[in-house]
Amino acid sequence: MPNGGSDCCGTCPFNRTNKDKSQEPFCEIRKFRIEKPYWTYCNNHPRRNPLLSKTPRGPVWAPIFADYDSKPFSEDLRIPPRLLPPIGDAMYVRVPYYQNTRPIEDESGDCTICGEKCENTISVEPLNEDKKYFCSTAHYFEWWLANSTEATPYLEKAPLNTDLIKNKFRDLSQNLSGAGELLRATGDRDQIIGYLAEIEELFVELGYGDVDVLHAAIYLEAPEISGGRSPHLLLLQVYLTRAGGLLQQEPFDIENILKCLSDIQNTIQRFLKENV
Ligand code: SF4
Ligand SMILES: [Zn+2]
Repeated sequence: MPNGGSDCCGTCPFNRTNKDKSQEPFCEIRKFRIEKPYWTYCNNHPRRNPLLSKTPRGPVWAPIFADYDSKPFSEDLRIPPRLLPPIGDAMYVRVPYYQNTRPIEDESGDCTICGEKCENTISVEPLNEDKKYFCSTAHYFEWWLANSTEATPYLEKAPLNTDLIKNKFRDLSQNLSGAGELLRATGDRDQIIGYLAEIEELFVELGYGDVDVLHAAIYLEAPEISGGRSPHLLLLQVYLTRAGGLLQQEPFDIENILKCLSDIQNTIQRFLKENV
């Protein structure tokens, strides 16, 4: 079994081979052949994508041995919320592909960022570009953020301020009641899915995009290792995932969906109360 984290392409429903074993591993969202399905990750995996969005969410990530996590990010580095490196297994950290090229652990080289001569490096060798070496996952990531065209749209997006996020949370929580009534009256699930997608966007915007639902559940059980994350937002991730699953079911269970929406509303209210 993989030990870089089980939220990998090997377990993802968007990997064609998981629908049809006779097919090669292939990502139906990003349209690429997956060379190492148990060692490749992205935020469209259901563990980080409660509503199963098929729009690519950030880059594809590869695992690098945690020994390379040896330097901090620069203090002034602003990482857009959707590009936060996803939390992986304790032995590995994750770094993004650069222009479809997988970064790897490599032999000696000089770090492109700090110039340090290293016996062991992370390297990337994109098509038609020189090979580059890095001393640490932090320096690879900083270089990637500044140079990858994939990062550009996220960097250009202005961050939401906290007051705006809270107001949006309040509105969306109220909107869910109306959407629940519509579901009961007409069976329309789309409005609920739309509101939940906006709620999830706010969750990511608050800096929780690196937490998958399994880690959310672990942190709820063991708050001392949660890094001070809000239990309400962690619970929100759990409920969003539950709602996403219920909304996919055929036939769908209205009472359970409405109960889940009520849990989401209560969790948002508790978060707002503690963060006024
Ligand atoms: S790249 Fe992402 S969406 Fe595609 S199969 Fe892998 S985890 Fe799933
Ligand atoms: Zn360096």
